[in-house]
Amino acid sequence: TDSDTADEAVRSTCDDATTCKRYATSKGYWTDPYVQYFVRSVGERKAPEINRGYYARVRGMNHLLDAFIRKTECNCQIVNLGAGLDTTFWRLKDENLMPRKYFEVDFPMIVARKIHNIKTKQQLSKPLIETHSTDSLLLDGHCLDSDRYCIIGTDLRDIPVLDEKLKKFHLSPELPTLFLAECVLVYMTPDQSSKLVNWASDTFHTAMFINYEQVNMMDRFGQVMIENLQRRQCNLAGVEVCQSLESQKERFLKTGWENADALDMMTVYSVLPQDDVTRIEHLEFLDEKELLQQLLQHYSICWATKDKLKLGLSQVAF
Ligand code: SAM
Repeated sequence: TDSDTADEAVRSTCDDATTCKRYATSKGYWTDPYVQYFVRSVGERKAPEINRGYYARVRGMNHLLDAFIRKTECNCQIVNLGAGLDTTFWRLKDENLMPRKYFEVDFPMIVARKIHNIKTKQQLSKPLIETHSTDSLLLDGHCLDSDRYCIIGTDLRDIPVLDEKLKKFHLSPELPTLFLAECVLVYMTPDQSSKLVNWASDTFHTAMFINYEQVNMMDRFGQVMIENLQRRQCNLAGVEVCQSLESQKERFLKTGWENADALDMMTVYSVLPQDDVTRIEHLEFLDEKELLQQLLQHYSICWATKDKLKLGLSQVAF
């Protein structure tokens, strides 16, 4: 059916993200020793502005994520929504920043692939086994559950099922909880994504949500980007890209979150540690600075908090 085709196109975006991250790390933009186990080859060349865009995305997300973990002193849980083949769990383990438990959710088909990679690559499975205390590790085709890491295959648009599965694997409403959505909400209707962020604020009294996605798509450059997406068979029919930073924040403020902030990625790029930005700008020559600016202005990070435990979550910022 049409909707199966649309879902298949959405699932294929996870390969795009991982391929681009693999390429950028092969060029030295940042270090990720694990992404190679999810995409075998480095693949074809990506333009420098794309690599810098991914650099800002990964560094920006990690900055807020790490700040949340430090605020909670690792007494927290993380739920990565639409995680795809993301490698954050392994990074946090290596950097001694592991939350009590790290959850990932994606379509069952993506989850099955990820679990297959974990099962067959010792570099991926070892950290998981090391952080597990009993012999009860659950690792079948569709689901992985260990003491510290859990992967669930389900559709994020079906909230009751999502809620049930997360609770089944011991996501606790009492612990400070961080939600990550990196290029994920844009594939849902505004109504569906609002329901998801509303569920999160209803269920957790102390929480943060970090959302990375496209914004400001209605100028000429935005139109070109939407056309590109459509050419790659992404069915964006009925999907309205969130227009502005204001509407990004509003989605949270209207659904029970206490604080919300949003920055476009050009701003994020300019407030990241500038010694490292200078380093990566020397990796590849970029002739047209304007191209990078335009690209970065069309993406944003929005983060929202609620903080019954008064941990100071609203101070998490750039
Ligand atoms: N967050 C990862 C990253 O940034 O590397 C993957 C991003 S990829 C562009 C989007 C991911 O969201 C895909 O893995 C896709 O399968 C997942 N996704 C989108 N809509 C979903 C839904 N309704 N239910 C579950 N997963 C979904």
